[in-house]
Amino acid sequence: MSQTQPVIMVVDDDASVLAAIRRDLRSRYREEYRVLAAGSGEEALDSVKELKSRGDALAMLISDQRMPSMLGVDLLSKVRDIYPVARRVLLTAYSDVKAAVRGINEAHLDHYLEKPWEPPEEHLFPAVDDLLGTWQAEYRPEIGGLRLIGHQWSAGSHQIKDFLASNLIPYRWLEIDRDPDALRLLEAAGKTIEDLPALLLEDGTVLANPDIRQIAESLGLVMAAAHDLYDLIIVGAGPAGLASAVYGASEGMRTLLLDGHGPGGQAGASSRIENYLGFPSGVSGSELTRRAIAQAQRLGAEFLVPVSVKDLCADGGYKRLLLTDGRELVTRSVIAATGMTYREHSAEGIAAHNGAGVYYGASSTEAQSCRDGRVLVIGGGNSAGQCAVYLSRFAREVGIVIRRADLKATMSHYLIDQIAALPNVHLRPLTVAERVEGNGRLERIHLRSVADDTITIEDVDAVFIFIGTRPHSDWLPATVLRNDKGFVLTGQDVTRAGDFAKIWKETREPVALETSVPGVFAAGDLRAGAMNRVASAVGEGAMAVRLAWDYLAHT
Ligand SMILES: Cc1cc2nc3c(=O)[nH]c(=O)nc-3n(C[C@H](O)[C@H](O)[C@H](O)COP(=O)(O)OP(=O)(O)OC[C@H]3O[C@@H](n4cnc5c(N)ncnc54)[C@H](O)[C@@H]3O)c2cc1C
Repeated sequence: MSQTQPVIMVVDDDASVLAAIRRDLRSRYREEYRVLAAGSGEEALDSVKELKSRGDALAMLISDQRMPSMLGVDLLSKVRDIYPVARRVLLTAYSDVKAAVRGINEAHLDHYLEKPWEPPEEHLFPAVDDLLGTWQAEYRPEIGGLRLIGHQWSAGSHQIKDFLASNLIPYRWLEIDRDPDALRLLEAAGKTIEDLPALLLEDGTVLANPDIRQIAESLGLVMAAAHDLYDLIIVGAGPAGLASAVYGASEGMRTLLLDGHGPGGQAGASSRIENYLGFPSGVSGSELTRRAIAQAQRLGAEFLVPVSVKDLCADGGYKRLLLTDGRELVTRSVIAATGMTYREHSAEGIAAHNGAGVYYGASSTEAQSCRDGRVLVIGGGNSAGQCAVYLSRFAREVGIVIRRADLKATMSHYLIDQIAALPNVHLRPLTVAERVEGNGRLERIHLRSVADDTITIEDVDAVFIFIGTRPHSDWLPATVLRNDKGFVLTGQDVTRAGDFAKIWKETREPVALETSVPGVFAAGDLRAGAMNRVASAVGEGAMAVRLAWDYLAHT
């Protein structure tokens, strides 16, 4: 196994450009990276294969677009199969920017740089710093660090992987049936197959079949609050809650953010958010989360995880939050940002295979393990479409199962086009899933045709479900009024609810985003009428802080 520095490779058929970019990159990155150069696409591809065979890490490939025998976009696409997490950047002349944008959309490139890049401090290094930062967050070194050993299709392993990924904790996954190191490590740790899943910590501690709380404690995640009283407690650390934490802390409020699972919420599970302002080539949910949680904590917000709230009691100006572990937290204002999740599918056998081949939402961890497999996505909305596009990078075949005849009414046009262009993604219209089967892990699915009621039984490796939503509002008391689906009413909407007059005793009306309990605000997908977008959740999270600030100023 190689222990050398990770590699940045530059490719250009113009020797003077190649020398210049290599020189600039070396001047800044040589302490941590090896900067290699290649004069053609073929030469670069050979070098990349050689690096792979030696076990070296490729952090970034920067390639010129117009090269005689291989276009930059084609080279970068090929390299993705060899090094899936390496950052891939196209170097273009101004006149080629259209090709670069097309490359970002079609070949999922991470960025494009324009020639010339002078001065590099302005036009080269900031972009490269940023890309290397995201690569470091995703890259898993071959040895050392945290290791999880388990069965691929076990619900317990899935839960731990999901928790580690949500909390942005790097780990190496070793599948007991496939990875030759797995059994050796397990035996060396004095454990057996019965102890799986097993988590091996860096200091040699082995956690056999641990629960999430035990893992959080062993990894030093903060679960206890530092203060007795807060100005603002934000429940839920999805985009809305993270934005509230950033703005609450930056306004100087004593701010506590907590989440039952990990930061990021639904957005954290998204493999690529394409429509968030300021990220022209898209941003992964985990990257956006990594930045947001670092920003909130730097500004002074406290963050507790995994900490779930089960009740709220408004006691005059003070609000008491009761946690599922029995503890209580006290605050003067609350932002409820607990979002929502996908509705459970009613097909027979689904619940028994949850986490063992059946997944709700797009879990990027599980998606990668579907390499060369046959998978189905159930649902026809944008999230289902994004998941199918992402899965197409790994799986041999991806089917989208929908009850309707087509996707027109439920999916954005750009996604329909993207799907149509992918040769390994197929639409399965007028079809419903009726039953799933397997022996410990999902193996088969029974699909019924809505057109003629015939049933087909097909082999399948994984099913990803996106069929409507359920709000996380159970923890709120009955005095926080909701609509018939359980989404929280705020502002003018709540004044029209039947029980409003019985509950609201203030002389003023609730302000926008305020619930039927004064000083308790709701932001993001939890709110009735939410836009269900990252940007709108972030906007509401920021706005709710301003309203909480005004509320505190007048109480
Ligand atoms: C696969 C996928 C792809 C998506 N892609 C895009 C996209 O490309 N662009 C876009 O704009 N939008 C996208 N969305 C939608 C977007 O992610 C959501 O609109 C956004 O995440 C909503 O943010 P939120 O903070 O309101 O809630 P959530 O993201 O739902 O976060 C809620 C948080 O609250 C926590 N929580 C829940 N209950 C409790 C409790 N009782 N105690 C403590 N914590 C609790 C949860 O653990 C969670 O972390 C996507 C969604 C999914 C699922």
